[in-house]
Formats: sequence, structure tokens, C-alpha cells
Amino acid sequence: MTKKKTATPKKQAVPSSRRHTHGQGHCLDLLRQLSAYIDDELPADICLEIRRHLGACPNCEVFIASLQHTVTLCRHRPAPQLTSVERMNMRCAILDAANAR
Ligand SMILES: [Zn+2]
Repeated sequence: MTKKKTATPKKQAVPSSRRHTHGQGHCLDLLRQLSAYIDDELPADICLEIRRHLGACPNCEVFIASLQHTVTLCRHRPAPQLTSVERMNMRCAILDAANAR
């Protein structure tokens, strides 16, 4: 009986710090649609795509989980009036955070 040794191919030079199969661009695309996703305003196929990505991407999964949590908290409270400028700033901050990765 021979002991089989599974050798891992050395070709895959994946930087351990950023093991993201989808690439940042894909994440950003999704982030742009996240607020609509949370509000259930997206067509089913895009929702599915986002869910699939979330399953494969810890970064986005954590992000959307906290976002969803925030949205839930906000919904159970009297909504603060946000100006369109504040909304825009918030959106920019989110996209900035995603860009910084
Ligand atoms: Zn992602």
C-alpha cells in the first residue's frame, strides 16, 4: 500500500491578505446595489447574484450583515430626516470604505 501524498500546486500565488476571487470591481458593483438589495427593490436575478457573492466573499458578507443590522435598527426608530446631501455623503463614505480595501 502506498501512502498518497497530495501535493499542492505551487503555481497559485495567492496573496494571503487579499484572497478575493471576485475582484474588487465586482464587490464595488455589488456595493452600489446593496441599498436597493436591502430594500428588496432589486430584480430576483440580481438578488441571487448578490447572495451568491456574499456566500463567497467574507468581506461583503460582514459588510452587508452590519448594514442590514443598521437598517433594522433604523426602521424601529423614528427616522431621522436625512437631507439628500447627507445621503450622498453616506453613500460616498461606503464606497470609499470599499475602495480602501
Ligand atoms: Zn465581495
